[in-house]
Parts: sequence; structure tokens; C-alpha cells
Amino acid sequence: MIIAIDGPSASGKSTTAKGVSNKLGFTHIDTGSMYRAVTLGLSHENIMIDDHNRIISYLENLNIKFDSNDHIVLNGENVSNAIRTVEISSKVSMISAIPEIRSKMVDLQRSIAGKSDCVLEGRDIGTVVFPNADYKFYMIADINIRAKRRLTELKQINESATIEEIISSIKIRDELDSKRSHSPLKKAMDAIEIDTSLLSINQQIEKIVKIVKQNKKET
Ligand code: C5P
Repeated sequence: MIIAIDGPSASGKSTTAKGVSNKLGFTHIDTGSMYRAVTLGLSHENIMIDDHNRIISYLENLNIKFDSNDHIVLNGENVSNAIRTVEISSKVSMISAIPEIRSKMVDLQRSIAGKSDCVLEGRDIGTVVFPNADYKFYMIADINIRAKRRLTELKQINESATIEEIISSIKIRDELDSKRSHSPLKKAMDAIEIDTSLLSINQQIEKIVKIVKQNKKET
């Protein structure tokens, strides 16, 4: 079974996807962390965004996987914290717009998800990666609430930014992600929209789990 959760940044996808996968015993795949890991890797190798040939050869040797604790591992190194910095957040939308990178990530996502029931979160899961997903959800939230959530995440990794800076970076990322030509962020026609602005994490998780369990009983 595939559960797709899409939506803009800090709309509540990650915590919800983790909670839903724990409750249902599914594998959780945070596809945003995969694009962040590529962004970090290219930056470590000093590969510029317009250096097409080096990007292609970097992708040939790239190894991204998730360990049993849901950490993302890039070429053998756990990069779960390193991918969450302000710097990576500011670059990732330009990197994720490159078609060859998208194609490699989508292949990887389909291959990981082929092994078990999964909850995948991202921008294009219900539209491109798994257009026939069993369930599709699209999460949205008020921009101020999204910025506060991001601030809390940044504090956890000792990064600092003001609310105004975060709001501005979220807006830029939303704009780049929804206007790009390949697999832009958009709600799938058949996705159920959930506004998480006023919901607790448990309420977000329960909403999805309830829908999935209800349908299971009915079939
Ligand atoms: O979800 P998160 O904010 O970590 O995603 C980081 C970035 O990765 C997004 O802003 C977007 O540019 C890219 N992304 C994507 N497609 C996905 C998931 C994330 O383009 N399925």
C-alpha cells in the first residue's frame, strides 16, 4: 500500500508521515531529505548548479539510503542533521529542479517503496512518483505557523534565524517548487486536503489513520 503525503514546506508532512507510518507499521520515506542530501553532496564536492557533466557523474556514484532509525545516509555518512541547515534549505529548490536529479530520486523512491507498505512525503508523490497511490493527502498551513515550526526545528540543530527570515525563505521555496517545469508542487486532483494550522500532531496523524482504517474495514 502507498500513502502519499504532499504539500509545501513546514506544512506538517514529516511529523504526520512519521506518526502514520509508526501507527500502521509502514516504512516512512521522506523524499525531501533525499533532495537535501544531494544538495549537501554537491556542495561538499564544490559542484556548481550549472556544471551539468559533473552533476551527471556525481549521480552515477551516488548512494542514498535510510537506516533502520530513519536516518538518511549519504555515501555511508549519516547526514540527518547536516541537511537541515539554513544553507541547504536555501539551495535545495534549485537543485531539485534539475531533471536528471529528479529522475534519479524518483527511481530510488519507487525502488525503496516497492519493498513494503510505505508512507511517502514530498511535493510530487501523488502526482508523479505514485499517481496511483492508494491514498493521497495534501497538507497546507498558515505561513506564520509554518515559520514557527521551522524555527523550532532550527533551534534543535543550533541554527539561528529570525521569524521574518524564515517566512521569506519559505515563500521563496514555495514559489520555486510550484513554478518549476518538472514535477512542480501541486495538489493531485484526487488528494484529500488537510489544513494543519489548528491541528495538534496527534490530530493530524489520527485524521489520516482513521481514513485508511475505515476504508480497510469497508473493503
Ligand atoms: O520537504 P523538505 O522541505 O525537506 O524538501 C526540501 C526540498 O526538496 C523542497 O523544497 C523541494 O525543492 C524538494 N522536494 C522535491 N520533491 C519532493 C520532495 C522535496 O522537489 N518530492
